Amino acid sequence: METKILTTSKEDIAIAARIIRDGGLVAFPTETVYGLGANAFDEDAVARVYEAKGRPSDNPMIVHISRASDIGQLTRMLSPEIVSLIDNFWPGPLTMVIKKRPEIPNRTTGGLDTVGVRMPDNQAAIDLINMAGVPIAAPSANLSGSPSPTRAKDVIADLDGRVDAIIVGDDCRVGIESTVVDLTSEVPTILRPGIITAESLEAALGKNVEYDSSLKEASKHVALDPADGVSESDFQPKSPGMKYKHYAPKADMLVVEGRREDVAAEIERLKALNERLGNKVGVIMFEERAFIEAAHDFFARLRDLDNEGVDMILAGALSDTDGVGFAVMNRMLKSAGYNIVKV
Ligand code: AMP
Ligand code: MG
Repeated sequence: METKILTTSKEDIAIAARIIRDGGLVAFPTETVYGLGANAFDEDAVARVYEAKGRPSDNPMIVHISRASDIGQLTRMLSPEIVSLIDNFWPGPLTMVIKKRPEIPNRTTGGLDTVGVRMPDNQAAIDLINMAGVPIAAPSANLSGSPSPTRAKDVIADLDGRVDAIIVGDDCRVGIESTVVDLTSEVPTILRPGIITAESLEAALGKNVEYDSSLKEASKHVALDPADGVSESDFQPKSPGMKYKHYAPKADMLVVEGRREDVAAEIERLKALNERLGNKVGVIMFEERAFIEAAHDFFARLRDLDNEGVDMILAGALSDTDGVGFAVMNRMLKSAGYNIVKV
């Protein structure tokens, strides 16, 4: 398939919108990561997204809208909580899981009776959804299992020849995927951490917000028995996306956790050891507590190191138990396959 490479000009977005209306696939920038979009109401188009990504079909997609009021096309059940989160965080990196209308194909939601909805904070994305005139279902625009794409060149590397068009926009401002919060249970529950934290959701809602147990479970196992690591099969994931191999670089990856000086020393030691064995080693070590910057850079760093052909990536763990650093650690541990040592 020939992939059109488009700009964010109005003319090009109009071409992309036409492709969406005709049942095609368009990769587009958002503030979180690039998305691979299809008409959310078109079952065949959505099936092609799964195919292009090589994504398991029970992993639901997030549906993107351009106006908050369009949420009525996706659900009949608006609650004061939903309205309050819209007022506080949209457009922005917050996905709400809510009861879906029967008109949304099961394929879009991976067979669930709920739908994840968000309004992105990116002009090209908003223009595309507006001009297409339909909600756009979009997972991240990478091959399933590889690091999420935060730059147009990452999307092109994964999807050129597999999708109808790629809109080349700016690098993504946030760099990790949206916070996913499930509003269908008694207590709002975070299924995927992001830069909108539990604390800020609690402030907006005036009530307690929990993390899904499998999220804390992952970091708890690691903290309790870091040398063993944990395997993904140890969790009973509620959000289907949690159970798959995720974000993995081609290189082997190891996370080193501990006091900053100890981590730096251990990484130096392991690096030297591996280089002596003839391995090319890449290091990811963020500035202390620079969590927003870490979120912005993490996936891009994985991809750059793969492009440099490193055999091994050594990454310093971020110490943060529930904020933005926790969201980055969620990705870091998954990309390393929960391969972690404590020093
Ligand atoms: P991606 O678009 O690749 O970031 O993946 C979207 C993720 O959002 C999925 O893997 C799920 O973890 C989550 N998600 C989307 N819709 C739902 C839903 N209805 N229920 C639970 N999780 C959802
Ligand atoms: Mg993804």
